[in-house]
Parts: sequence; structure tokens; C-alpha cells
Amino acid sequence: MSDIESLRNRMDEVTLEMIKLLKTRTEIAKGIGEVKRAIGKGVTDESRESILRNKVILLCNDIGLEETIATKFLNVLLNESVKVQSADEHTHLSIFLKAKSLEQKGKKIIHMEVGEPDFLPPQIVKNALSEVYDRGFLRYGHPKGMPSFREALAGHATSKFGQNVTKENIIVSPGARFSVFAAITTLLNLGDEMIVIEPAWPAYKDCAFNAGIKIRTISTTLENRWEPDLEEIKSAINANTKMIVLNYPNNPTGKILPERLQDDIMQISKENGLYVLSDEIYSGYARDGWKSVLAYNYDKSVITQSFSKSHAMTGFRIGYAIAEPAIIEKMARLEALCLTSVPEPVQYVAMRALEADTSNNSNTVQNRLKLLAKKAQGAGLEFAVPDGAMYLFARVNQEGFDGARFASNALEKGLAIAPGAGFGNYQNFIRISACQDEKTLIEGMNILSSVMGVSQ
Ligand code: PMP
Repeated sequence: MSDIESLRNRMDEVTLEMIKLLKTRTEIAKGIGEVKRAIGKGVTDESRESILRNKVILLCNDIGLEETIATKFLNVLLNESVKVQSADEHTHLSIFLKAKSLEQKGKKIIHMEVGEPDFLPPQIVKNALSEVYDRGFLRYGHPKGMPSFREALAGHATSKFGQNVTKENIIVSPGARFSVFAAITTLLNLGDEMIVIEPAWPAYKDCAFNAGIKIRTISTTLENRWEPDLEEIKSAINANTKMIVLNYPNNPTGKILPERLQDDIMQISKENGLYVLSDEIYSGYARDGWKSVLAYNYDKSVITQSFSKSHAMTGFRIGYAIAEPAIIEKMARLEALCLTSVPEPVQYVAMRALEADTSNNSNTVQNRLKLLAKKAQGAGLEFAVPDGAMYLFARVNQEGFDGARFASNALEKGLAIAPGAGFGNYQNFIRISACQDEKTLIEGMNILSSVMGVSQ
């Protein structure tokens, strides 16, 4: 046998041995998952993972293997364990779909689970829709978006956020969701790590999993006013860490970080060369004290924006991202691959929507949040008054409370709310949306109180 052939045979043997070990590892992971479920423990245990990571690093030193390769491989394995341990979580989307099927059977449901403004898009949108055909917005376009729209968005961002944004910094996307997906997928590689501060909108984690990226979770608590611990962020960073995700005003807590804390997080990110993905789609619903990540002039930041919430245009699927041209270029390659271009008619309509004054939407939601807070207080829920966004994230302080079961019970009584588990390890929390008129919100909160066994 030639040398190469015997080496190849040896390579095959080692690979097959690794596959057998992978099977054993997967079985063990499943077993651990069952135990965790039985004792009500969350899937991810950062401290356990960190012990294993340290063991791997020690072994690398011993055997002379490069640490980053080994830890990237470890990250892929850790992600696989999370996948096999994750049961079908009750997220706000699964409750929404269940609510919809009950409605089809004739049941009346109050929707306080989704973040979809109940009011209409600005009137100018209606007029713009009727103009699309005659104005000829009917063709394939550039993957970054129509030049005139990108120009308009740059002007809008410059005046809104007080930073110089040009057309080259803009990519149009079919909703902020796609910008988030594009940024994570194109800027990070298999086995890289990304920091997410929880509670968080679940798509950040889902996008990372989808691309084989390892999540490092920083959990925050109601007691600490949903503020992340800087030391914890610092110690989560290693050579594989490539990005941190920020989302303020936050979904689900409504939190806006104190400026100093945000400055410090940005400083740490710069020192470590991390991308900062700042999802700012709720900036139109900020009370005060909010500062865009654009203000830091950081060349590795990506800001996502959307017309879904600010202009109540969820169904139009239109948003955009702001970043350095080199990043925009990478994201555009993925958009071209997936979409060719965002529909021109929608881009035109959104461009016209920029002319509308939507500040009233923010006032409406602020007033509703105040009302929700009052009713929630009456029901004995525990929460921090939101600084913005359109949600109340509240703890139900009852023995053995399970948010998923609670949401199911509420649905039977005609109220859809989102269980906290969809946003991280927050089983005893629920998220209540302020996306209904005040009368409906009161009705919903009364149902909630009755499910809790409280009379109001
Ligand atoms: N980011 C956050 C924090 C969200 O809550 C949502 C939608 N609920 C999105 C992004 C997605 O927005 P879009 O409709 O623009 O895709």
C-alpha cells in the first residue's frame, strides 16, 4: 500500500471513531436534557460550559493543539447539545398560532402576545400605494435597495440620530429580521461566539444556531433593573468572540440602558474588536435617555431599523441597516443571493412614509404602557416600568408558576399573552403587549387577573 493510501485509511478510521463518539455524546446530551426538564432547569448552563472549555484549553496545552481550533470545534458540539435538549418552547409565536386556530373555530381572543401595532400606517402610505404602478416601480432592483430610497434613509438617519450617514452606509432589507440574519450570517463563521443579553428577542439566538455560532448568554434580572454586569461581559469574551447584540429599547423589558453603562459596553466591544449589532427598531418608542449606537462612530457597528413598529407597517416587510460600506457589501451579497432585491413597490411606499410624522404613535403606546403598569400593579405582578418599546415584562410571583401553562390557561379564557421562556430562562415571567386600544387592554388585564386568581 502506498504511503498516502495508508494515511488515508488511518484518517478514515479516526473520522469514524469521532462519529461514534459523537453518537455517544448526543445520547448523553439527550439524557441530561431529560433530567433538566424534570427538575425545571434551563437548557444552557454557562458555568458548566466554561468548566469544559477550560479543560479543553488545558488539554490543548498538553498535546500541542491550537486552542482556537479546538474551542471552535467545542462550540459546534455545545450547540448540538443545546439543539437536542431544546424542547418545543412556548414562544409568543406558538401562542399566536394557537390563538389564530381558536379564532377560526369562532372563539374571541384578545391579542396581547404579539408586537404588532393595532393602528394603521400613515395615510400617505395609502396614496403612495396607488401611485406605484404609474410611476413604474415594478422591476428588479439593486440588492442594497433603490438609490433614491437609500439616499432618503441616509438623510432621515442623519437628522434623527445626529450622525452623518450617507447612502453608502445603508442597505434596505425586508424587515429588520432579515438585517439581523444577514449581519450575523455574513460577519460570523462556524464556531465563532456571539454575546446576547437576556431576556432577548429569540431571533438573535435562532440566527446564530442556524449558522453554527455559539451564543454566550448574559442574563439580567428584574432586581438589577435588567442591567447587564460589565465584569460578566468581559469574562465571556475570548478569542472566538466576534459580536455582541444590543437591543434598546428592549423587547421584552422596555429597558433603555443608562448612558454610562452603554458607553462602557461600547468601550469593551471596541477594545476587543467585537461587532456591535444594535437592533434599534423600538427607538421611535423611547421615552427619554436613549442614545443610538451610531453616536459612537464605531466602524464595526451594525444598526438595524424597521418600518414595522414606527410606521405600523409590519405586513410591508421593510427595514434597513446602517453600517460601514464594507459590511453593507457583505450583507448585500447575501441579499442578492436570497432575494435579488426588496420589492420596489414596497421601497417606494416606505420612502414616502418617511414624510409622515409618527410621534403620535409613540404617545399612544406610552399611555397604554402606563395603563398596563397600573393594572399589573393591581394584579400583584412584579416589573420594572418600561423606558420604551411596547411591552410589559412581568413576574408572576406564585408558587410553582409556569408561564407556558399559564399562557395556555389564559388562552382558554380568551387572552393571548407571551410566556417569558421564549426570551430566555424566565419561566415565571410573561410579556404583555400594549398593541390594543385601552378598553381592550383593560378587558385583557381583567382576564389575566382572573387566571391569576386575583379580583380587581
Ligand atoms: N427586532 C426586534 C427586537 C423585534 O421585536 C422585532 C419584531 N417583533 C424585529 C426585530 C423584527 O422586525 P421586522 O418586522 O422589521 O422584521
